[in-house]
Amino acid sequence: MTTHFDFLVIGGGSGGIAGARRAAQYGARTALVEAQQLGGTCVNVGCVPKKIMWNAAHLADALAIADDYGFSLADTAFNWASLKDARDAFVSRLNGIYQRNLESSGVSLYTGWAQFESASRVRIGDTCLSADHILIATGGRPMALQIPGAEMAITSDGFFSLSQQPRRPLIIGAGYIATELAGVFNALGSEVTMALRKDILLRGFDTMLQETVMDEMQSAGINILSCVQMEAIVPQENNLLAVRRHDGEEIRGIDCIITAIGRDPASDGLGLDTAGIKPDDAGYLRTDEWQNTAVPGIYAVGDVTGRQALTPVAIAAARRLSDRLFGGQAQARLDYQNIPSVVFSHPPIGTVGLTEDEARETYGHDNVKIYQNRFTDLYYSVARHRLPTIVKLVVTGAQEKVVGCHVIGRGADEMIQGFAVAIKMGATKADLDNTVAIHPTAAEELVTLR
Ligand code: FAD
Ligand code: NDP
Repeated sequence: MTTHFDFLVIGGGSGGIAGARRAAQYGARTALVEAQQLGGTCVNVGCVPKKIMWNAAHLADALAIADDYGFSLADTAFNWASLKDARDAFVSRLNGIYQRNLESSGVSLYTGWAQFESASRVRIGDTCLSADHILIATGGRPMALQIPGAEMAITSDGFFSLSQQPRRPLIIGAGYIATELAGVFNALGSEVTMALRKDILLRGFDTMLQETVMDEMQSAGINILSCVQMEAIVPQENNLLAVRRHDGEEIRGIDCIITAIGRDPASDGLGLDTAGIKPDDAGYLRTDEWQNTAVPGIYAVGDVTGRQALTPVAIAAARRLSDRLFGGQAQARLDYQNIPSVVFSHPPIGTVGLTEDEARETYGHDNVKIYQNRFTDLYYSVARHRLPTIVKLVVTGAQEKVVGCHVIGRGADEMIQGFAVAIKMGATKADLDNTVAIHPTAAEELVTLR
């Protein structure tokens, strides 16, 4: 027997849950299929447990300057296992909250792997569901490094299972996850090595951010090896590992290797051919600006679409899709321009809009002006070790429209959201100048730039 719904969502992560609940609130008969823990990547092996680890690292940084502020702290030893227990308990609570939220919204939950049987029918084990509209929100998974011995490495998923703190981890990769995890380990006292296949962290970010974060991570003691090709991972005695490089050298004495080299879309195993959907060569489900796939009645949102792989992006795209399909808002769709993002690095990065290079390419080299300031946050005034803050505005045209805002330094993570609103609204440099500063803060530097 097949049960019929108005809306069937495959994937109970950030996008899927948001889209299903919004549709159900409009009265659509909605089902959601999730094979694993509710909440998806963000809740279980992404943003949430990562931010808890970053908070621990943040505390460690504060403890490191506590004596400069007059505190005498006797024992500041860190217990990885007890934090992991507390973190796992919080994530379990969230799993339960998501389940109750789905129930209270009237969404029917099915547990298992969904596979298309046709463009309007999906099988989950022995259960068969059909729907007028089907949303694919299946997310992604860590990309595997293709070298001999790679099975001895772990990915970010494995990071969250570690019950002990590695003493000498090696992180392979140069993006968000590699940068964030390296900072966390280092702040918590591990001796961290990073291996980059190219010469810079966070490719695609503004050059000022790339250079500053790399300098600061190196000054903090992280050993960053650039332009290194890995050839093989080999076991050593005492459960240690070594990595053989292209130049014949070996990085030895590592107790944990984490690869963070990007993520693959989770589009295989869905039986997409049966539904008539063709992923692109990398496996992404490309959609138009309305989240439509090429097959009428089948939509996709989130990481599986290959757009910005961020939780709020998946949520916003899914909610707008439900607004359009069931909420009578024919024009509802997500505008993918000016999406702000934070890298929870050490120090953190907040960024929105175009990089300086992108702006010069878009508007012409001479039509772009940069306002930038580097300073030391007052927080470090009495500290022996001081981290810089840099704020940068990228503006264009006679009106000096702000098309990019990039911040690195203490508080950048909380600072950028408000400036993203201003930029989305088309703010000019004069609008920022006309806004009275809040003193003493680091954010005020963005409205007092000369
Ligand atoms: P997901 O949340 O991945 O959900 C997909 C769900 O679909 C999964 O639960 C999966 O089990 C299920 N599924 C897959 N196939 C099937 C099937 N056939 N049948 C049934 N169920 C299926 N983003 C931020 O904005 N901020 C951050 O700080 C941040 N930190 C991150 C840290 C890490 C370590 C990682 C890995 C990611 C981070 N992200 C962050 C990215 C964010 O987690 C993702 O962009 C977001 O979770 C994508 O949501 P989604 O709905 O597309 O997919
Ligand atoms: P990213 O895309 O951020 O970075 C992966 C990087 O790894 C690439 O840019 C590349 O850098 C490098 N790389 C690729 N292949 C190899 C290889 N074979 N060997 C060595 N290095 C390689 O992916 P992540 O896995 O870090 O994160 C996935 C996504 O999750 C992010 O893009 C982001 O959207 C999201 N995320 C968001 C976070 C946040 O919002 N704070 C935090 C974590 C994840 P290069 O080409 O320069 O070598």
